[in-house]
Amino acid sequence: MATYTPMIQQYLKIKAEYQDAFLFFRLGDFYEMFFEDAVRAAHVLEITLTSREGGVDERIPMCGVPYHAAPNYIEQLVLNGYKVAICEQVEDPKQAKGVVKREVVQLITPGTVMEGKSLEDKQNNYIASLTVMEDLTYGFCYNDLSTGELQVTVLNDWNEVISELLSTGAKEIVVSSELPEQNRKQLQERCFVTVSYEDLKIQLDEVTPIVESLQEDKQKVTVSRLLHYLIRTQKRKLDHIQVPEYYTVQQFMKIDMYSKRNLELIETIRSKGKKGSLLWLLDETMTAMGGRLLKAWIDRPLIDANKIKTRQNMVEALLAQFFQRSELREKLKEVYDIERLAGRVAFGNVNARDLVQLRRSLQQIPFIQATVSELELPYAKKLAADMDGCEDLLVLLEQALKEQPPLSVKEGDMIKDGYSERLDKYRDASRNGKTWIAELEQKEREITGIKSLKIGYNRVFGYYIEVTKSNIGLLAEGRYERKQTLANAERYITPELKDKEALILEAEEKIVQLEYELFISLRDQVKVYIPRLQRLAKMISEIDVLQAFAVVSEERHFVKPVMSNDHTLKVLNGRHPVVEKMMDSQEYVANDCMMNDDRQVLLITGPNMSGKSTYMRQIALTAILAQIGCFVSAEEAILPIFDQVFTRIGAADDLISGQSTFMVEMLEAKNAISNATHNSLILFDEIGRGTSTYDGMALAQAIIEYIHEHIKAKTLFSTHYHELTALEEELPHLQNVHVRAIEQNGKVVFLHKVQEGAADKSYGIHVAELAELPLPLISRARELLATFEGEKISKHPAKKLSTIKEEETQLSFFTEEAAATKESVIPDKEKEIIKLIKTIPLMEMTPMDAMNKLYELQKKLK
Ligand code: ADP
Repeated sequence: MATYTPMIQQYLKIKAEYQDAFLFFRLGDFYEMFFEDAVRAAHVLEITLTSREGGVDERIPMCGVPYHAAPNYIEQLVLNGYKVAICEQVEDPKQAKGVVKREVVQLITPGTVMEGKSLEDKQNNYIASLTVMEDLTYGFCYNDLSTGELQVTVLNDWNEVISELLSTGAKEIVVSSELPEQNRKQLQERCFVTVSYEDLKIQLDEVTPIVESLQEDKQKVTVSRLLHYLIRTQKRKLDHIQVPEYYTVQQFMKIDMYSKRNLELIETIRSKGKKGSLLWLLDETMTAMGGRLLKAWIDRPLIDANKIKTRQNMVEALLAQFFQRSELREKLKEVYDIERLAGRVAFGNVNARDLVQLRRSLQQIPFIQATVSELELPYAKKLAADMDGCEDLLVLLEQALKEQPPLSVKEGDMIKDGYSERLDKYRDASRNGKTWIAELEQKEREITGIKSLKIGYNRVFGYYIEVTKSNIGLLAEGRYERKQTLANAERYITPELKDKEALILEAEEKIVQLEYELFISLRDQVKVYIPRLQRLAKMISEIDVLQAFAVVSEERHFVKPVMSNDHTLKVLNGRHPVVEKMMDSQEYVANDCMMNDDRQVLLITGPNMSGKSTYMRQIALTAILAQIGCFVSAEEAILPIFDQVFTRIGAADDLISGQSTFMVEMLEAKNAISNATHNSLILFDEIGRGTSTYDGMALAQAIIEYIHEHIKAKTLFSTHYHELTALEEELPHLQNVHVRAIEQNGKVVFLHKVQEGAADKSYGIHVAELAELPLPLISRARELLATFEGEKISKHPAKKLSTIKEEETQLSFFTEEAAATKESVIPDKEKEIIKLIKTIPLMEMTPMDAMNKLYELQKKLK
């Protein structure tokens, strides 16, 4: 190290503390990176890699970005999961003795982004933290640094940790360096989060007040870990971190990560986009805060009947008041992201425009408050009464800030006249000076007789008198000093103009400086309001989501559900709300669903593509809609409150974790079976399909029986094993239903109508035809089907098509028909015996004779 230049030594010393981050090392107008960082950054950011002398023989790899363009590059790195340490010059280079002092002022990580494109308006950006306890439970908390929200819980097993982590969508997780390697790997490889370490060696004072509100040590240690990390990396006071909210997963309807994905609550399986998800359908929120809360509500439907009803009643009341609701939406549109503004105030990076947005937002509150208080509901009245519009802050902002201040806080033009006496004085001086100049222009025109004479200003020459070349002769000798020559004009100054200029410029400089100071002090005053603003933001977002529910419920003709407490589920003319919205021209076929303690399991048969899966999802979405407090997509709905929803739908392979489809299927089945209760909803779509026919069918049947006997959860089970429909006779609480399709002119027509009873055909070849497989192939399939059907025993007509497999024909060996068709493969001796068996006069024999006969036949076979 001794041979490196002092600056490189300084670099290496700082870099040693930030091994896992790119170190942006400020050098004049650039952030430079050296050594390995430079090589990697050049690659990731596609910028030129150069090198420089560093005191040793070899040149040091280097690359850099201009400081004003840095935010984009930082964002790009962070989006790729990297961390960036910003190292600034912390003393004036002119005054520095030796190498300029430099320090890291902030570590920007995927979970601590405060601004930029990666921070989407309607999405939280969470950073989580995890602590493994001695009793092998897990303390888990997460925070959105941009809003200050902080939630904490204790989870019982590792799967719950993964599930919570995935559902928060956290980008980064802070753990102890002692976390076992395999857990770390799972976090990185399954949840794609950046893993950061924080070991609690010293207790920071700033952490104590936040942690104190928590009851349990487990919660305290987890929240402490996160806060230590935040304070260490952000290197500033984080006044906006909210009091941690303790929750348990049992307080909400439990939907595991597979099911959330399967039901496309937040994003679609295929495109991973919002369009086509439940969130997309419901997002009529007007504010970013509302958008984020909506997502949180969908993630956590309620199970408390009173809370559910409160939300539904609010939706009902808003729905009834069309005009007030429209007015409310107009006002909400003007409300900016108060929650994130508060966060940025704490962070110290708001500008005057942000505070103008805050003012605009606060101006809307009285209207919102009035509209909400007009709703005839005690809850609405209370909400309105509790709403604190921060009027004192509004007055302050109205007095202080101009209408359209610039982005920069260092150019002045932010503060209104009348706010500061001192500022007013400087402004007067500057304004008087300007009036004086306008008067001078007039005077000079009169003296010289030059009408086109004008006085202007530029940064290099200051104020000047400009005269076109043709008029120069009219100027009095000796009075004007030439400053600048243009193509067709000359610019001059006079001593009195120079004097005035000095006065004006001095005043302006003072104005800019004073405005900056006033702004900083204003920002500090706003800091005091952060908790009040955060409370207000919560109320506004709640109202926003409720009005969104009302809007969607009205537009999509939703109905208010009745919540039952006797396990009754009755949905009349229900629709899958998202599929319905996505279909433009065709008509969605509404379907009923009836379930109760006598009809616990619905076994759904019907051809592929008929709508089985859509029907099942529809029921789950209806339940979720109701429990997040919205109306539901039906003409009438009575619904129980489900404690959990489990699904096994489609081929959502967990490729990331390296599980096979069938294994995932079984894991999901296990998850449902081991956790579901009488109050749960289970959707099993074609379970058992991933293995051989008999294997799969046996499993499917055993699963149905098990749920029917032991769990008694409401279960929708779709299957292509038509044999299973016979279960209806054995299991009293199982009911067959089917989705109807009819054949017309040799083509299948899906009616999408769910009816009682089992389906009688599977129409697979028709679907293949619809998919435009080659015609010769389709004809061949028809031929084969006819043969297979001829071969099979047909207890259920539907069985003909569905279960043709090699093993099956093997097993049906000894049936009469099979024996006939398989003649060629049966040895002659055995054929003889079959004939004999046919002729045995069983009814005329004693049991003893029969035994003897059997013994004789067996001997022949041996
Ligand atoms: P299955 O599970 O029986 O194979 P799906 O539920 O996937 O069938 O439905 C196939 C397609 O049929 C859906 O993509 C949808 O476009 C349409 N569909 C399903 N249900 C209905 C319905 N009730 N009304 C209109 N179209 C429907």
